[in-house]
Amino acid sequence: MAGECRRCKKKEAEVYLPHSNLNLCSDCFLLLTERRVKHTVNAYKMLSKNDRVGVAVSGGKDSSTLAYILSSLFDKVDIFLIYIDLGVPDYSEHCLYKVNELAKIIDKELIIYSLEKDLGLRIGDFKSTIYGRKICSACGTIKRYLFNKISYDMGLTKIATGHNLNDTVEVLFNFYLEGNVESLLRMKPFLRRIHPKFVPKIKPLIGLTDMECLLYAEYRNLPIRTIDCQFSKGSRMLRRKELLNMITERMPTFMHSFMQSHFKRILPTLEAASKNREIKLYECTICGMPTSLKGAPCHFCKLISTLKRRA
Ligand code: AMP
Ligand code: ZN
Repeated sequence: MAGECRRCKKKEAEVYLPHSNLNLCSDCFLLLTERRVKHTVNAYKMLSKNDRVGVAVSGGKDSSTLAYILSSLFDKVDIFLIYIDLGVPDYSEHCLYKVNELAKIIDKELIIYSLEKDLGLRIGDFKSTIYGRKICSACGTIKRYLFNKISYDMGLTKIATGHNLNDTVEVLFNFYLEGNVESLLRMKPFLRRIHPKFVPKIKPLIGLTDMECLLYAEYRNLPIRTIDCQFSKGSRMLRRKELLNMITERMPTFMHSFMQSHFKRILPTLEAASKNREIKLYECTICGMPTSLKGAPCHFCKLISTLKRRA
């Protein structure tokens, strides 16, 4: 890439950011990326001094970037890394190796939950419970449940995930297409405690694109996975990602504008219009953890009992 860095005007530019039309050197790129995460955390008041935060690390570029930035910028906050070993052949061991390396680099405790050791199951076993759909939906249910359960049991005050701008716009886009207002109301950068057993969730990377997270992880030499999950191939999620990339190529500010207008304008209007439809959580009749289902088992317990019935 030709030319000098637009920020320091000293070093050679190496990174081009199309959404802000900026050419940056690697140092300025790293600095601005960290500043943007800090800005998101402060703008949504995601963290406070005495927080004990569980960072969900998958071995991917986003969560490794997240763990690194949070641990270097917010030293007043207690940070624990949480990895869920879903028992995907080869992939899960590969990712476990990467998160172990990451934990050593940033000097944080790594909590490992193994579906096989702790529950006697592997994600592949859930094939029979999903009626021909991709296994990703069961995987999402299991991960969401375990993030909350592990953090609640450990007395953590927040759970941070590596969802980035692409992930966020992709999900919002889908809810818009479906007209799914309920889910739009529940999808927020910071989900506060809405039940005593619900641990608040934060997404500090929602302002960074896929490419920015990848470049950050690469420039910082963070250990990140180099293989993909065998179950995610051809998923609807991947197809939507491609579609968004096509739009963004033609209109570089698309994702940023979409997210800004959703969280700043559309969501507050939706919330004001649905004051009497507050999100209610009940307790699962089997495990006692929070669920949107009244007088019934939570989605996780339902999955497990379906599996046991079929065994
Ligand atoms: P995904 O649902 O795979 O797009 O991942 C979204 C976020 O969930 C990641 O950025 C991580 O923060 C977290 N995550 C995904 N898989 C795992 C895992 N196996 N263990 C811990 N955290 C995970
Ligand atoms: Zn349950």
